[in-house]
Amino acid sequence: MSRIRKTIICMESSFQVPPRFILFWQRKHVDMPMPVRSLPMLQNWDCQSCSDCCRTYSVPVTAAERAIIAQQNWSAVPGYETLETVTAGLDGYQLAHTPDGACVFLGSDNRCKIHAKFGAAAKPKACRIYPFVMVPAGDHWRVGIRFACPTAIANTGRKMSAHATELAEFAGLLEADTTRSTAELPAPALQPGQSVSWPDLLRFNAALLTILNDVAYPLERRLRQIVALADVCKKSRFDAVQGPRLKEFLDVMTAATQDDVPSASAVPKPSWVGRMLFRQLTAIYCRKDNGPDTGIASQSRWIRIRSAWQFARGTGTIPKLHAKIPTVTFADADEPTGPITPEAEALLLRYFQVKFESLQFCGPTNFHRHYWEGLDSLLMTFPAIQWLARVFARGSLDPLNATKLALRLVDDSYGYNKLLDAGRQPWAMRTLADRGEVAKLIAWYA
Ligand code: SF4
Repeated sequence: MSRIRKTIICMESSFQVPPRFILFWQRKHVDMPMPVRSLPMLQNWDCQSCSDCCRTYSVPVTAAERAIIAQQNWSAVPGYETLETVTAGLDGYQLAHTPDGACVFLGSDNRCKIHAKFGAAAKPKACRIYPFVMVPAGDHWRVGIRFACPTAIANTGRKMSAHATELAEFAGLLEADTTRSTAELPAPALQPGQSVSWPDLLRFNAALLTILNDVAYPLERRLRQIVALADVCKKSRFDAVQGPRLKEFLDVMTAATQDDVPSASAVPKPSWVGRMLFRQLTAIYCRKDNGPDTGIASQSRWIRIRSAWQFARGTGTIPKLHAKIPTVTFADADEPTGPITPEAEALLLRYFQVKFESLQFCGPTNFHRHYWEGLDSLLMTFPAIQWLARVFARGSLDPLNATKLALRLVDDSYGYNKLLDAGRQPWAMRTLADRGEVAKLIAWYA
């Protein structure tokens, strides 16, 4: 598998964007960029120069960025005389890496040499925007953040609102490459054959956020109530229910589903099929094929096939698809390690708030998933994170650090790892949702 790309979803350069969308974004658009809506919840970030991203990701480079790097004349810099700085790959050009896996421009002080010599604006766009995720949302941009970045998880640095100037600049950068105003992009469809306007899509989203933020209940119960509300909405038509009437409908259904959600102990165990499909999904989330912590799947095709088979069967020792996976069995991972600690729950709540607020889970930032399908994929990250946290807690990590590492791994792939959109994965995700397994898996692994 190729490296997961560092880029935010700057639609024209991300590998998961279908060709028609690339064409759509080819011509320059010169209007004022749309305003950027900052995340309202508490999320801080500032680069701490851990260099993790510069050692892990493949960084796509546009033709213009390649020309800029050529003009920087790196061949005259000692150490770069014979070094290739940009390489051609299957998806276009990308920054070259040194034999130890780091970007050729990463200095021994963990700082970017392009940045140090020419300033931030001289770096490729993907480097500048990471770990932010810019999501077009009608008449404005929403901003998410990737929890693959350890600083995003640690919540270290300035508030998101303090990044307003650079975020507006990023919006301008992205809009400069588009064929038409980003404001003309339609809202992601709710499901095949059912579309709504941007304001109505945001009404659905606001209803889900109201449930998510209701701290009177445990997080896992709130997520299951969101599943219940989504199930009602999936079965409904909204052609004549729009605007204030839609809000009324959502208010009534939110109240109704609140009473219907059973306690976790009353939720049936996930079925054999549900657990098998879930383990196969989790295998994608914990697989690391490059950079620090590379796992065994990078070694040979045979090991990849054998690991996939082990995850499907769910017996024996868990294959070390990530170097940090300790020696534990699938049976161990199914044994609870105790309730979610308040610190871990607060972290997971912030993660889901960021994903919901930013709308990162549907549309161009998640393989063009429809709204409900993207929601299901997001909700399924909860049991995946919990499963991985159990695995890491069986090793040497305390519950909070086990959750942090699990979250990093899952959000490294979520919306970016093309394996999540390949083969039968989209079908598996729909099967889990259609069979009612999502709520069962949330309860089971909580
Ligand atoms: S160009 Fe700079 S910021 Fe981008 S990956 Fe290389 S070292 Fe990191």
